[in-house]
Amino acid sequence: MSVTPASEPQEWYQTSPQRLEWELAEFAARGLPAQAEVASTGRMRITTSLPFDGEPVEILVIFPFEYPDVEPTVYGPPGLVGRHQTRVVGNFCLIEDPRLDWWPTMSAAGLVDEDLRWLLEDSAAGATAVAGGEADMPEPLSQHIAVDHSVVVVVPDPFWAIELDAGHGRLVLAEAFLSNSLVVTEADGIGHGEAAALDVVTNAKKARHAALWVALGVGALPLWPSHVELLDIGLAAWPELLGKLRETLKRERKRASVSGFVGVTFLEEGPRRGDTRRGWIFLDVELDRKGERSVLRALRAQALTPAERARRVPELVGLAEARVAVVGAGSLGAPITSELVKAGVGHTDLLDYDRFDVNNCVRHLIGPRWAGVEKEIAVAIETETLNPFVKVAARHIHVGGGQDDQSRLGLILPEVDLVVDATGSHSAARVLQRRCRDHGKTLVLASLTAGSYGGEVAVFRPDGPCFWCFVLGQRDGSVPSPAEGPRSNTTPVGCSTPAFSGAGFDATALAALAARTVVQACGRTSYPSLESDYIIVNFRGPNPWRQGNLQVHPECPLAH
Ligand SMILES: [Zn+2]
Repeated sequence: MSVTPASEPQEWYQTSPQRLEWELAEFAARGLPAQAEVASTGRMRITTSLPFDGEPVEILVIFPFEYPDVEPTVYGPPGLVGRHQTRVVGNFCLIEDPRLDWWPTMSAAGLVDEDLRWLLEDSAAGATAVAGGEADMPEPLSQHIAVDHSVVVVVPDPFWAIELDAGHGRLVLAEAFLSNSLVVTEADGIGHGEAAALDVVTNAKKARHAALWVALGVGALPLWPSHVELLDIGLAAWPELLGKLRETLKRERKRASVSGFVGVTFLEEGPRRGDTRRGWIFLDVELDRKGERSVLRALRAQALTPAERARRVPELVGLAEARVAVVGAGSLGAPITSELVKAGVGHTDLLDYDRFDVNNCVRHLIGPRWAGVEKEIAVAIETETLNPFVKVAARHIHVGGGQDDQSRLGLILPEVDLVVDATGSHSAARVLQRRCRDHGKTLVLASLTAGSYGGEVAVFRPDGPCFWCFVLGQRDGSVPSPAEGPRSNTTPVGCSTPAFSGAGFDATALAALAARTVVQACGRTSYPSLESDYIIVNFRGPNPWRQGNLQVHPECPLAH
């Protein structure tokens, strides 16, 4: 059997030359010159021109391989305008909203004649006009410095403080835990990195590198500085910035040159337009015996801080103060815990009492390496790596077990905002509902049906309808029940250790819903509050999602 080699994919202007003709006609219709040529890369490019401040400037449009599904990129002379143009290569930021600002029926001529023309007119008119026409996004200086994207420098607090007690000094960079990225662990005059953040990203076995840092004054920097300009301005601020490299050259006489990092920090725009924040750039500098210096590459900083997390989930701010007990570290409790940790719940108590079965990897958060380990410990360790700013406490407690378990549960309950029952056990749910009511705590129940055909999430307030009311309502049909699979295949280990079958993604989908309910029920955030007391989910069949409010059931054995 012979295999026919796939033919080389062709450029868009080869497969649809009429599209190129149309593009050129669009330029002509708008009175714009257009010179088309194929670059050495094979990409089609059209050279045109637009007026800027009364003078014509050359504009280059480069069409990507997947044009017109992918939009063209428009370039001008680097440094033409102060905002919305990269300093180094000169491409303009014309597409603010990719879903609206480019559509394959649009032409590159239109991008140039409309979007770019407006930007150039606004830029010529001044900063106010540019600000009026732009999206509400900052233009931080550090984002305009060309960097090596394969390595980042993780920077925890307190190195982001706006006010620094020193202007320069020593800096220590540790190698990151898994990658060749770096982490700032301490800096003279600023302090030590926050221990929780460092614990997650560094490893005591990895190397540490001594470096130096300097703060640049406001106004010391040109609009978009080059690497060498950054270094020279840093040296002007502190002539000893390359002192470490000079010492190494003195000590290691055989070396012709040495290289190492210097940290340069400055104030820049961000995180929102018009705001001020601290920026960091790390320069990998080479110094030779003649005193010649060059910058090998620049690295960008990534903040590992609670404030930077909060900017990505502003509705979840407030969860740092929350404390939640999750009962059950199984295929529901583990992903519930991981979602709460990611969301930023400050303290999670995770309760379980048995050990991990490797075959539960089919739907569990943790892998076979945790075989035989107590589940609450394994899940606490794994989930704590997701967010260095929260605590997950493993609690070896069997809810529904003996007196010891009961008393240890009694120590936790007064401390938590609410309790999540992810055990899938009615007896555990009954114990938890009684204990939660005793302590005035809300109970959130999450459970899956046989085969994970469906599931339910329900909220029981200490003074409202209870778990009994919910179960009795489902029995008489006043509360809907989720779909159930056949019970025949639910005990692969043996009837003394019931284990159910069902897809992990269904468990995780219900866990996400339960975590959302927990955040809504704890009431510490601006995330929308609860819409209902229960959600019944079917992962197959009609009625995928039903929700409603509970009533006290007339036959409830609790005296409501
Ligand atoms: Zn009741």
